[in-house]
Amino acid sequence: MSLDFLDFRIRQRDHLLDIARAMVSRLSVRGVLRMILQASVDMLAGESGLIALSDDGGDFGFVASYGLPPALLDSFRPLVEDIPAVRRLEDFVMPDLAEKLVTVAEVTGLLLRQVVALPMIAEEQLLGMIFVFRSQSLRFSPDDRQILASFADYAAIAVNNARLYEAAETERRRLDALLDSSADGIMVLRPDLRIERFNRALATLAGWPAADAVGRHHDEVIQWSRLRSRVSLDDALAQGLLAAQGRTLYVEGELRRRNGSVVSLAITYAPLIARSGQLLNIIGTARDITRFREADTLKDTFISVVSHELKTPVAIIKGYSETLRRPEARRDPAMVEEMLGGITQEADRLAHLVDDLLDASRLQAGGLPFRDVDDVDLRDLAERVAERYRPRTKKHSLSLEFPADFPSVLGDAQRLEQVLDNLVSNAIKYSPRGGHVTISGRATPAEILLSVSDEGVGIPLDEQERIFDRFHRVEGPETRAVAGTGLGLYLTRAIVEAHGGRCWVVSTPGRGSTFYLALPRETSLAIWRDGSLV
Ligand code: ADP
Repeated sequence: MSLDFLDFRIRQRDHLLDIARAMVSRLSVRGVLRMILQASVDMLAGESGLIALSDDGGDFGFVASYGLPPALLDSFRPLVEDIPAVRRLEDFVMPDLAEKLVTVAEVTGLLLRQVVALPMIAEEQLLGMIFVFRSQSLRFSPDDRQILASFADYAAIAVNNARLYEAAETERRRLDALLDSSADGIMVLRPDLRIERFNRALATLAGWPAADAVGRHHDEVIQWSRLRSRVSLDDALAQGLLAAQGRTLYVEGELRRRNGSVVSLAITYAPLIARSGQLLNIIGTARDITRFREADTLKDTFISVVSHELKTPVAIIKGYSETLRRPEARRDPAMVEEMLGGITQEADRLAHLVDDLLDASRLQAGGLPFRDVDDVDLRDLAERVAERYRPRTKKHSLSLEFPADFPSVLGDAQRLEQVLDNLVSNAIKYSPRGGHVTISGRATPAEILLSVSDEGVGIPLDEQERIFDRFHRVEGPETRAVAGTGLGLYLTRAIVEAHGGRCWVVSTPGRGSTFYLALPRETSLAIWRDGSLV
């Protein structure tokens, strides 16, 4: 082996080492390609060279040149036209290369006598071409081609890596956009349960800024104040429940947020398993289920209220009618009269309850139909309601306070009577020791005010808004002792608001309550259509 040859081999190895180092450093692909081109020209004893890369459509563009005036590069185009789409280096032939070189030399006026060209192929894909030129007529040998092939390989790997990196980067950005635009909370956990990704929605849900959550252990961020599911993420992992792709774990409960507040949350965990079977990540998708839980509670309340309130009158009616079937009971006309009265009253109560339930469900469905809209004399209406209740109670006295010139109001008389009836019925129900119930009316230039006051048990301050919610009843012995569904005030407020008005309560526990209604004097007639409010 000659010394020259040894020296040549060492130089080649040094070049390849430099290139390999550059490829793993932060040097750009163009920088690496330039290095490769320079080394190729040097090793092949050429004077100049070119690298062209193919785009997705198969068109080539020059990305690196050596020893050539940049202004003339365009004239080298013929060299990269009609390049055969080869997949393997061995298959590559370019029979008209020598003629093309002659054309280029003529056009550019450069001294270009010999050329060697090789394709850059990675993963069976033609990525580009590398050319080395000589100004002397010494032809390139098969050895030269061999040497160039090793540089072409490196160039292909560098380009392929850069493309893969770019594709991965695009994919990562797409994933980021997807995660951040998702309305569901999403987190990506490492196998040791440290948080790797935490999207914006989850940051809001859990009250943890993503930057603070990332890197922490899952259990540090996802802290349940109450877990409704039997199996937690830790249990599931310990039992191997998430050991296969496609398995999921559903966990729900009350999550304690970072600031201490609580939110009802459901998280579905799914493993991401590598082909080798190794657990790569666990993806957790979280959803705020406060509304579902509320709906659930409401459903439970509904069932218990309705069953209780339906059962009582039915039991009473059944008791009376069974007694009436006995001949001896029928002999006493006063008793028969009393029992029939009782049956009628309980049947009315049932009808009333069913009406309230229907109204409440109509309201939920989007509207409460108005039957008849006309001028309503509220004083007449109040008088009628008071008359209805006076015979039913001995402990309470009912009085009206209305000015002589009290104006009428545009509205649905039946619905407004329902409102007053409910307020007066409550005033009596929640004044178990009796007392005075006053229905008052007052008119201001803009509104008509009605109030119903009692001297009953009163309502604690923190309940004074909630009593207008569906099914809400104040917890306590005084309320428990009284039959009710918690629908009356809910419907009252809905009816008043549908008239464009407001209602509220002022109350001192132990002293009594006053419920107020304010109805606008000028209801815009435009909002009434087909007898219902739109
Ligand atoms: P119900 O009387 O059927 O329970 P309401 O919706 O009419 O339903 O009233 C809701 C709750 O508000 C009642 O359960 C009661 O606790 C409270 N409440 C209503 N009116 C009065 C009142 N006049 N005095 C004291 N508490 C009242």
